[in-house]
Amino acid sequence: MIFRPFSVIIVASSDSPVATCHIAAMDATPTFCTIIPPHVLDKMATSEDRALSDLGRRTLERDAYERTHRRLTTVIGAPSIAGAIVSDQPKRTIFDAKHQTALPGRKCRGEADKDSKDQTVNRAHAGLGATFELYLKAYGRHSIDDQGLPLNATVHYSQGYNNAFWNGEQMVFGDGDGEIFLDFTLPIDVIGHELTHGVTQYTANLTYFGQSGALNESMSDVFGSLIKQYSLQQTADTADWLIGAGLLGPNIHGDALRSMRAPGTAYDDPQLGKDPQPGSMDQYVTTGRDNGGVHINSGIPNHAFYLVAESLGGYAWEKAGQIWYDVLTGGEISTKATFAEFARLTVSAAQARFGEGEAHQAVLKAWSQVGVPTSTGNGADLPR
Ligand SMILES: [Zn+2]
Repeated sequence: MIFRPFSVIIVASSDSPVATCHIAAMDATPTFCTIIPPHVLDKMATSEDRALSDLGRRTLERDAYERTHRRLTTVIGAPSIAGAIVSDQPKRTIFDAKHQTALPGRKCRGEADKDSKDQTVNRAHAGLGATFELYLKAYGRHSIDDQGLPLNATVHYSQGYNNAFWNGEQMVFGDGDGEIFLDFTLPIDVIGHELTHGVTQYTANLTYFGQSGALNESMSDVFGSLIKQYSLQQTADTADWLIGAGLLGPNIHGDALRSMRAPGTAYDDPQLGKDPQPGSMDQYVTTGRDNGGVHINSGIPNHAFYLVAESLGGYAWEKAGQIWYDVLTGGEISTKATFAEFARLTVSAAQARFGEGEAHQAVLKAWSQVGVPTSTGNGADLPR
């Protein structure tokens, strides 16, 4: 592939129900994707507790700034050389923002450098590595773009910043406020989640709104969880299927940000509200907030993936993950895919990869359990 600069055109503000962003080349959409959804920060920002509302508002303001900043920025694509052998080793660089907001900040650990004294730096480094490894070992993918894209991350972003995001070029981690949220490098699946937004950007390029946006979010949760499971060598029955376990402060009533096994049960706290995720279509949430509920309705495809993985047993990245990866990267899925389109494609992918057996049946059953049709409506169970 030739070096090709590309520019970002963001078409709406963060408050708009159509907030999304598009990239003009490489068919990639660098969505500005934060791990903490706006409904959680809104709840904090409207709290009667002054300190809490300040924390929520400050993070919302930083997020809005970063979104706007992207509208004005030209992103340079990673150079790669046609026909070159892509390395099986990651190229990681960690930067320290030193509690400021200029990106990327000061370089503090390169690929060949020893461990830092700063464990946040080391966790970011390890998380980037674990993500690179899952994609390479399980699916033969070389980094986010499959061309060996260098992986950059900035830690200690801003002050009391309660979020982490992929900005289309790099990872950014806040330290959290220490009470509601802890250091955002703590959960490895959060790192995997954000980097997977990059993979989606370079492949299916799912539009970050409504059902295609919820699928985009769900892809990040699915592969974020698989990155954690792979790094811990956990089977489907021993994995926690949580996103962001270890991120909530000790006094918060909750286990994590989301649960793939039981959507809607991850937290229930006076300061954060209750986890709003549905696990099936009969609880589908229609909203203009959060880009049409992308962090909410993602519970439905998340739960479908969990059901497939649980049914098949063993390592979830081997079969369930392979089927989802085949659809994500196969080129058939449309950028505005609905849940039903995605479901049909997973049924086809299961059959193409593993035949008519157990995996195919597990995928059909899982979508049926969450209320997403896999029939094309003409009497055939499978799309043609
Ligand atoms: Zn996300």
